[in-house]
Amino acid sequence: MAGDGLLVRVRPPLGRLTAPQAIGLAEAARLHGNGLVDLTNRAALQLRGVTEQGHGPLLRHLVALGLADHDPAREARRNFLLAPDSSPGDDTESIALSLIAHIDELPQLPSKIGIAIDAGPAPCLAAVPADFRFERSEAGRLLLRVEGRPLGSPTSVETAARDLIALARWFLATGGGASGRAARHEAPLPTAADIAPAPSRPLSQLLAEASGPFHGIPFGQLDADSLIALAGKPHVTTLRLTPWRGLILEGGADRAEHASPDGLLRVDACPGAPACPQASVETRGLATRLAPLVEGSLHVSGCAKGCARQRPAGLVLTGRQGRFDLSRNARAGSPPETTGLTARQILALFGRP
Ligand code: SF4
Repeated sequence: MAGDGLLVRVRPPLGRLTAPQAIGLAEAARLHGNGLVDLTNRAALQLRGVTEQGHGPLLRHLVALGLADHDPAREARRNFLLAPDSSPGDDTESIALSLIAHIDELPQLPSKIGIAIDAGPAPCLAAVPADFRFERSEAGRLLLRVEGRPLGSPTSVETAARDLIALARWFLATGGGASGRAARHEAPLPTAADIAPAPSRPLSQLLAEASGPFHGIPFGQLDADSLIALAGKPHVTTLRLTPWRGLILEGGADRAEHASPDGLLRVDACPGAPACPQASVETRGLATRLAPLVEGSLHVSGCAKGCARQRPAGLVLTGRQGRFDLSRNARAGSPPETTGLTARQILALFGRP
């Protein structure tokens, strides 16, 4: 439950939507939610503003589209994030399919625990939140690594499910449930971990080699009509979810339009007012106007909670009683340098008349 109604998170199996699934999801967002679809930093989708009466029908709709498991226990365990450049038959998708086939044997882990399946030539998800990671070494060996540990243990496509299940059991048996996240869990590992993942691939290289153009989505939010329009673009076969505020339009040809997520990832802003009842200020319009005027990272937050960005940003504007507090190199709600600013005053401060 969020301030604007129920929030329903959707994790498409193998991280992609076919055109009929995208259209069905957009219709579901319109019918049962507020018509907006969020793309999360774990490459999942969120529908917001869902009513309690609409919740059951929405879940049935998602199951019928093949976007949710009919068994809630299985659905809760399927917290996987796939490298967005995986393709049918490669190691990333083969591991994902094996994990899905063995999902009933995977113990129920704390809800925030995520599994990154990142078995391409070198990792591309190292900066994306996850707790257990399938990766590849420079020498091409597959490894399974616990977040926070620099080295992983050997694994293979054939043993991946068994190895992950053993690691999940170790995590729970050694008190990982209380730690909450693997990076905070310091118990000795159950098996020798002596393989380093290869250095990460640059995002620009991954997107240049992807199976279609990257389509950036400001603040990671689009409306139902836009989602339907993307699914209907010429030659597009599937929409590939990424954790970088955008979709890869698989099969699409137009590479020029949104080539990089760099600008999108530099600016964070939560939904603000009027979408969130905690907010007393509008956020995303100000962030859009301010972004070209500031260098470095920018965070506009509707209140001190700072939902859109937990890390510090170069410039932070935090809403309070209808105005903004300004901080630098800080998180939302940090002690401000200046208080009580209006949006107009902030824009003037950065050179906009
Ligand atoms: S930061 Fe505050 S205003 Fe923004 S979404 Fe979170 S609770 Fe709402």
